[in-house]
Amino acid sequence: MLSRKITDGTEFVVFDMEWNQPMPGKEYPFEVSKLTGEIIEIGALKYTYDNGELVYRDSFSTDIIPVKYTKLHYHVKKVTHKKNSDLQKGIPFKEAYTLFREFCGDAILVGWGSSDPAMLKMNLEFFGMDSKLGMFFLDLQPIFSLFAGLQGMQRSVEAAVDFYNIDKKEIFHSATADAHYTGAVFEEIFNHNKPSEVISAISSSSIDPDVPSDFSFVGPECLDSNTAFTTSGNFMTSCPLCGGKLGVKIPPFRIRKSQYALLECREHGELFSRTRVKKNKAGNYYAAAVMRFATQNDYWLVASKKEEFDKYGEKGKPVEKTEEEDNAT
Ligand SMILES: [Zn+2]
Repeated sequence: MLSRKITDGTEFVVFDMEWNQPMPGKEYPFEVSKLTGEIIEIGALKYTYDNGELVYRDSFSTDIIPVKYTKLHYHVKKVTHKKNSDLQKGIPFKEAYTLFREFCGDAILVGWGSSDPAMLKMNLEFFGMDSKLGMFFLDLQPIFSLFAGLQGMQRSVEAAVDFYNIDKKEIFHSATADAHYTGAVFEEIFNHNKPSEVISAISSSSIDPDVPSDFSFVGPECLDSNTAFTTSGNFMTSCPLCGGKLGVKIPPFRIRKSQYALLECREHGELFSRTRVKKNKAGNYYAAAVMRFATQNDYWLVASKKEEFDKYGEKGKPVEKTEEEDNAT
């Protein structure tokens, strides 16, 4: 998609954040859904890509004093090993973000999982700051799965650390330690694989967090499921960003309860789509479709479903009763 070219000198900032959560049942004088977490720590490491390797450059770490969720949620307390008094140490969010953004410069942000950029943007917006990050973001988790031969599976950063036998000197789940571990995994991925292949996977998976990348569609009620499936057709003909006509890379095919396709906008790149038909209380059918700019995981998903479809047809590979396949995204 709108990805960034990676060349010698390209910088990466591997980062992690911790955030505190609202107390369940407590009343707040604002809409809690607009601040589902308040950032209390940012940790980051900077690398430069040079001739097939990642070269470590610099580190960043700061604690942030929360102003909305000032008492640690028990879950956050348990996971991060922080104490309530720790929340008094640190600097205001605005100051912390300004320093962090300066530290990042023109780098590509790298994180484990896709939740951190969204949480960062939510905090920026809530506190009245410019929520445009102005950086590309790479979720390293599916890249690790790809090169570890664990495609389609989600693994924790600790599992990846074990996979590469990386020393576990620090306790997990502080932003600084987790950024350190994520950076170490990133280095190992380069060390154990052909740099050109890693670069290619990274380039096709980095996204622009400032541009919407997920789109959904709910079709009208229909009397049967086949008709319901066809209603998502229009949704998939034009690019949700520019309205341009979409080309077809893998034509729609149906396997079990889902229909998959891989589409392409000339300007914005490849889009993964999946349609499911659901039944409402009245017994009528409707289509629920999602379309998103394809990442490494999506390519793998649509290719493996297509392979299964080509071999076994619409019913898919005969399996012993398991819901697993249907629930996998
Ligand atoms: Zn487009």
